[in-house]
Amino acid sequence: MTTQTTTSTPAVEISGISKQFGDHLAVQPLDLEIGDNEFFSILGPSGCGKTTLMRMITGFETPSSGRVRLGGVDVTDVPTRNRDLNMLFQSYALFPHLTVFENVAFELRVRKVAKAEANARAQAALELVKLAHLGERKPDQLSGGQRQRVALARAVVSGPKVVLLDEPLGALDQQLRKEMQFELKRMQREVGITFIYVTHDQEEALTMSDRIAVMSEGVVQQVASPEEIYDQPQTRFVAGFIGSCNLIDVTVPGGAAGTQVAATVAGIGTLNGVLAEDVTREQQGTMLIRPERIEMRRGGEGLVGRVESLTFLGEEWQVHVNVSGTTLKVSLSSLVREIELPGLAVGEELTVSWRPEDARIVIR
Ligand code: ATP
Repeated sequence: MTTQTTTSTPAVEISGISKQFGDHLAVQPLDLEIGDNEFFSILGPSGCGKTTLMRMITGFETPSSGRVRLGGVDVTDVPTRNRDLNMLFQSYALFPHLTVFENVAFELRVRKVAKAEANARAQAALELVKLAHLGERKPDQLSGGQRQRVALARAVVSGPKVVLLDEPLGALDQQLRKEMQFELKRMQREVGITFIYVTHDQEEALTMSDRIAVMSEGVVQQVASPEEIYDQPQTRFVAGFIGSCNLIDVTVPGGAAGTQVAATVAGIGTLNGVLAEDVTREQQGTMLIRPERIEMRRGGEGLVGRVESLTFLGEEWQVHVNVSGTTLKVSLSSLVREIELPGLAVGEELTVSWRPEDARIVIR
């Protein structure tokens, strides 16, 4: 698992942290390092423990075990207001009676930063979010997306080490969301502050993050770059949660991580794949194959299957192919369909194949 970052002192260091609510272990003991200037996402389905993990970093929640360090300093027993961090939530919580400018400058005023400097910093933060021209407005004279930007300007204006964002784009419509994903990433790069982004939206995490921690049922399943999470999932859960994936139950012989083995699939026989981890003895596992890695042809070498369904998705078709009782999802580009499989129809018999290195075998 890649948990190391390149900087010497991580922005956030979590060691052995866990959270128990009654008899429910919401976050299992966990170690994690988040680098300086990193855009780091915590991704997982509802109830997996991501908010609880975030709240332990902010200090809203006391861990049942473990320590939290910010910039090398142990803050486990330090109250939230004295931690060098800020937060951004879906509810923007702007002061309605203050102008946009004063909303952004508010924290600096409370901290008694000299007026000229506070004004300059508030102005710079508003420029960062491209709202310098709306400084005199009140929050109720802004659109949802603009209010979100003001909230972000407010979160970064004092230059905290870390900003934590909990599903901040949840209330925005799809198009605005996409725009803001792009913008958030740009702003994070520009201010050079570590962002910890909590989301259940895999696409959001993939497009914005330097690294992602994928969580399920209180356990961090994998920490890696978006590409690695997608191409080299370490568990069945990660493969199924991120993008679309064929998950085939297999019996796996022993072998070292990275080696190619022949796994047995009920009804089909043996299929070659690469072990994602060291396997010491024969056991049950899952073969993971992305739909875009499967090739379909008329005739030739491969497994014989029958087309069960064809669904048009725009630039590609999703094809379900039944191979000896196992349904495989195959994605077929519209161009390939037109050129190589003209007239493809439900019920047709085809051969499917893939490169063994594109079939990963995991045990968990
Ligand atoms: P969501 O995306 O729905 O917010 P999440 O991944 O952020 O979910 P958490 O809010 O961290 O999940 O909750 C993790 C688990 O801990 C859930 O089963 C939740 O019911 C439970 N939990 C959270 N807070 C408490 C609490 N204060 N007391 C008891 N159980 C809690």
